[in-house]
Amino acid sequence: MTSFREFSQTCKVIESTSGSLDMVSLVAELLEKVTPEELPIVTHFVMGEIFPAWSSEEIGVGAGILYNALAKSAGLAVSDIKGLVRETGDIGETAFRALKKVAGGQATFSSFLEESNDLSILEVFDRFKDISRSSGKGSQTAKIKNLQYLFNSSSPEEVGYIARLAVEELRIGVGEGIVRDAISKAFDVPSDEVERAFMLTNDLGLVATTARNGGRDAVLSLGLELNRPIRMMLAQITPSLDAALSDIGIAAVEWKFDGARVQIHKEGDNVTLFTRRLENITDSLPDIVEAVRENVSAESAILDGEAVAIDENGRPRAFQDILKRFRRKYDVQSTAREIPLILNLFDIMYLNGEELLDLPLTQRRAKLAACVKNGNEIRVDAQYLTDNPEKILEIYNDALKAGHEGVMIKNPDSPYSPGKRGKNWLKKKPVMETLDLVVIGAEWGYGRRTSVLGSYALACHDPDTGRFLPVGRVATGFSDEQLVELTELFSELIIVESGTEVEIKPEVIFEVAFEEIQKSVNYESGYALRFPRLVNVRSDKSVEDVETIGRLEEMYLMQRERN
Ligand code: ATP
Repeated sequence: MTSFREFSQTCKVIESTSGSLDMVSLVAELLEKVTPEELPIVTHFVMGEIFPAWSSEEIGVGAGILYNALAKSAGLAVSDIKGLVRETGDIGETAFRALKKVAGGQATFSSFLEESNDLSILEVFDRFKDISRSSGKGSQTAKIKNLQYLFNSSSPEEVGYIARLAVEELRIGVGEGIVRDAISKAFDVPSDEVERAFMLTNDLGLVATTARNGGRDAVLSLGLELNRPIRMMLAQITPSLDAALSDIGIAAVEWKFDGARVQIHKEGDNVTLFTRRLENITDSLPDIVEAVRENVSAESAILDGEAVAIDENGRPRAFQDILKRFRRKYDVQSTAREIPLILNLFDIMYLNGEELLDLPLTQRRAKLAACVKNGNEIRVDAQYLTDNPEKILEIYNDALKAGHEGVMIKNPDSPYSPGKRGKNWLKKKPVMETLDLVVIGAEWGYGRRTSVLGSYALACHDPDTGRFLPVGRVATGFSDEQLVELTELFSELIIVESGTEVEIKPEVIFEVAFEEIQKSVNYESGYALRFPRLVNVRSDKSVEDVETIGRLEEMYLMQRERN
């Protein structure tokens, strides 16, 4: 059994390591060392996750609960903890200092006991599981008690990591890229095979366990499973139709529907729906569930499509309307009547026990069309095979006239590549590109806005390290009503509060428009946005969808080419 102390020690070493190859080696050693039972847990822990991203389990610990637990464990007031947070700017350091202060006189701080019983990784995980499962009245107290137990049973070098993990902000610079390479190194499986298995299962813990137990063959045989979402294939922007055609040649052209992505799993009459964030939204869309049951003749299938909220003329409604449907937990039937949906299916990844990912798009498409009966709530729309730019322009204009976003230009021979944003799917739309950035901080307002959070700090993502790199702030594009709603949403996610500034757990994605991307020394990303404004709060997207630093760079260069 591995102690949490050993895990913390490794974290500490990783934290002070800057080269990613060295980090990969350290993580690989850790993965090799732990027991089989600990392996999936440690794989998530080291990325600052407690459960796989798509799991319905969530720890649900914010600043309030954490400060309270620390105050109680240290025998201090919550205001003292807040003071420490202001002083250190870091929740781990706060935990360390708070508990160190009292450690001398407290028998509970186990490192100061000669024969301390080391906390094990499994024990920490079990407590976190307990915390995630406490709900309803009294859950706050139960969560605090569990955290208190952990703080009081651990040594000074551990408390910081417990505190950081509890808010899922480990910050040692390890992200999916490093863990993928570490699994590859530790268990001798090529990195791209680890990556593919990850995209299909969405669970690096599972991939690590499989690699350890069965090596390369077992990882290769990890595949699709009904009712477990796979990552969605994504599209790149193409600057022009000509550029797209020179990349693809004869292309499969479809409308780019203006709605939100849905992945559909059908197993007999059992239908499950996932959003682009891989959240299960089956209960919110009973009309779509019914339509799939009635109109998809396959016994089992995994399908991909775009759900569009339509008005009385069949035109797409505002994006927020579709999100209203996705988020709805009660009165779902009446909301379904108020905001009807149509599901446009455009791909199929699995049919009657057979994985279709590697079939060319045109063949997948034929199978899709053959098993769907088009109707008012579900359909497979037209796909045109052409290399004529004028024809594509015509399709593009038709799509815009119908209120949709533009066209998708796809490589007809391409496989379905889960989680990839490659050249096999290109998108062309008229509007200025927007960026999806994650909110990492905010500021309490002034004057009449003192009670609301505004001026949101935004960040892009570095997939190798898992870190979020600041790109500036957005303070325009919000209605008063929206600011109030957002304040409510963010108050659950505050990690550190100091003066009027708050640090926010990276979870909420803002789609932001801007005039230009500029180079900047003011922000860690090296980039800043000129005149950013909020377009939408993208609750259909998750932190995995946040623009990467590479993508920002690419857009910066593309913009320079245009000018
Ligand atoms: P955007 O904000 O432009 O929708 P995105 O970041 O949500 O982009 P992209 O991968 O850039 O996602 O664009 C593809 C998205 O377009 C898909 O996620 C899907 O939701 C939507 N879409 C609409 N029609 C189609 C189609 N025919 N084929 C594939 N995707 C489509």
